[in-house]
Amino acid sequence: MNRKYRKTIIAGNWKMNMLASEIKPFMEQLKENLPKVRACDVVLCTPAVLIPALGRAGKDCMVAAGGEDVSCFDKGAYTGEISAAQLADVGAKYCIVGHSERRQYHGEDDMLVNAKAKALLAKGICPIICVGESLEQREMDLTMEYVAFQVKAALSGIDAAQLRRCVIAYEPIWAIGTGKTATAEQAQEVCEGIRAVIRKIYGARPARAVSILYGGSMNAKNAEELLACPDIDGGLIGGASLKPVDFSVIVKATDQD
Ligand code: PEP
Repeated sequence: MNRKYRKTIIAGNWKMNMLASEIKPFMEQLKENLPKVRACDVVLCTPAVLIPALGRAGKDCMVAAGGEDVSCFDKGAYTGEISAAQLADVGAKYCIVGHSERRQYHGEDDMLVNAKAKALLAKGICPIICVGESLEQREMDLTMEYVAFQVKAALSGIDAAQLRRCVIAYEPIWAIGTGKTATAEQAQEVCEGIRAVIRKIYGARPARAVSILYGGSMNAKNAEELLACPDIDGGLIGGASLKPVDFSVIVKATDQD
């Protein structure tokens, strides 16, 4: 982390878990465990139907609500889709785009991820843009080449002012939900590489200001070491974000001064 130049963010990704009736008890427990003074912003990205309840419950403990996906279209005949305007309307401040589960199960490609990021920016929502390699790509030594391609494609046509509101999440696919975390060295190397890619496109200052998160089996035990890396500015957390105590421990791990 480098709090002098950029925000530290701990963002949960609930995926297709939790019910509206579970939010109150979850948030009560979270509130009890979260530090009042924090070294990071705390976000919970949830299924869109839960955002209004989460937004209400999260207000008094400074937890922002976010979406997990968005339509690239503004409005109209797109049954089942949810627009950026609708997310903003119910209080979403952030939204994940390009999660590997969307890429894998819904065939999302880099162009679509780029269009979704732009749709969010147009409505004042910060996109959390996910990138990351497969195990096969890592074993073939293609990690940085592939991730650099994804970052460039996702940011295509996004200017430096808009970049300030973008968050990148490096999530190696082989580490998501598997209990296999990237080592701090592996995660730092790729996050540093992502910053270098951004520096080439936008210059040193914008690159220095972008928050780059690590995601992939981050938990209460390994968070401190990962977050100590200079180019890892927080975490995108799946499984552990469903456990208020563990999630709070990760938030506390950002306080390393
Ligand atoms: C994720 O889904 O973004 C994620 C990182 O999941 P987990 O923490 O469970 O690996």
